[in-house]
Amino acid sequence: MYEVIIGLEIHAELLTDSKIWCGCSTRFGADANTQVCPICLGLPGTLPVLNERALELAVKAGLALGCEINRFSKFDRKNYFYPDLPKAYQISQYDLPLCRNGAVEFEANGEIRRVRINRVHLEEEAGKSVHSGDNIMGSEYSLIDYNRGGVPLIEIVTEPDLRSPEEARLFMEKLRTILLYAGVSDCRMEEGSLRVDANISLRPFGETELRERAEVKNLNSFRALQRALEYEVRRQSAILDAGQRVEQDTRHWNDQKGVTISMRSKEDAEDYRYFPDPDLVPVVLTEEQIETWRRELPELPDQKAARFISQYGLPAYDARVLTSSKAMADFFEAAVERFGEPKTVSNWVMVEVQRLVNEAGIEFDALPIGPGDLAGLLELVKRGTISNNVGKEVLEEMFKTGKSAADIVKERGLEQISDTGELEAIVEQVIAENPGPVQDVRDGKEKAIGFLVGQVMKLTKGKANPKMVNELLRQKLTGGA
Ligand SMILES: [Zn+2]
Repeated sequence: MYEVIIGLEIHAELLTDSKIWCGCSTRFGADANTQVCPICLGLPGTLPVLNERALELAVKAGLALGCEINRFSKFDRKNYFYPDLPKAYQISQYDLPLCRNGAVEFEANGEIRRVRINRVHLEEEAGKSVHSGDNIMGSEYSLIDYNRGGVPLIEIVTEPDLRSPEEARLFMEKLRTILLYAGVSDCRMEEGSLRVDANISLRPFGETELRERAEVKNLNSFRALQRALEYEVRRQSAILDAGQRVEQDTRHWNDQKGVTISMRSKEDAEDYRYFPDPDLVPVVLTEEQIETWRRELPELPDQKAARFISQYGLPAYDARVLTSSKAMADFFEAAVERFGEPKTVSNWVMVEVQRLVNEAGIEFDALPIGPGDLAGLLELVKRGTISNNVGKEVLEEMFKTGKSAADIVKERGLEQISDTGELEAIVEQVIAENPGPVQDVRDGKEKAIGFLVGQVMKLTKGKANPKMVNELLRQKLTGGA
């Protein structure tokens, strides 16, 4: 057994309309090479001009991640040759990034964990290679789409504070939530607007030095991140068990095969020959500007969770679950505004609504019902028109059909039977048909009454008011309520 050390490098595309150095559109999914110009194609003689909105979003991302903002930062050229990078350098930030020294807290196995953010810097996207085969090595040819080239990007670098593949996934979920709340990126991993590379090394417990690490790329889902890291833990453990050293390299995650494959030995910063970009002036920010952007930030997940606890009296667990998605938090608040009873609403949202969302494989913001619809349903349960269990079925139906709870209850005749006469007849029938349990109840065996209630519920297809059934049975069998 070894201690697992993981650090992440996250790339998030910023939600600007135009690219970082030119006016080309950043819209995803356009025909190849239709959103390009001499600047983002890196033609000689062109000059980049910084998109102010990209700067604003990068600073806001840093603030949302608890970073200090550098009043003075600059852009540097990261030199490397690759077909998707027409200038043969990427404009990035090296020694003076925009943001430094942040931290993110998240929950793992009931514990609050804290990951330090080393830096957040601003850079440009490269274009995209489209290989004719599965990968570049097995392809007859590759095509290049430069639409993505010059889309503004932030790189977020964590300290190696993560201690398991699961923690890495949970951290990423929290990070994504924060960036979504802050409105800086749409964080669509399937479209590549949020990407993560993971550095992982192992060492014997008690050792303090970091050992050789592997950098794993191509992790395009949270699941892939966790699986790839689990694979690396097994691979590196086996090497260390055999008394050998892990070779420092860059690896590619193959999702189908479930393995990481070595691509190249890991490059160092000096390989890139960074130097300040002479075409761009340094970025100088005033304290006032930074404070303005700080004030413009919306309420972030941790702040919202704290408010849910104090304002609605929710347990910390509920507050954390509800605020894990802004759409879910907003839905909860709007439903409470209409119905009241925050804890009741919280239970329904966290358990029943969340279950339907998961089963449908959608995001919470694509929910086909509104907060008013849930409030309408809860009103029927509260009034006793339907039971709690029938309420769950009705919610499912609402989810599928978009109909209101009241309409579904009416159409399907789901009103709870609260008519004493009607219930009494059924209770009599159950008593007559179940002499054994009836005798048990008379003998004082409390458990048997549950069985009889169950029989009544069965005969009424769950529509009997269970409280009334219970009372009726007690009256008839023991002479008391
Ligand atoms: Zn352009």
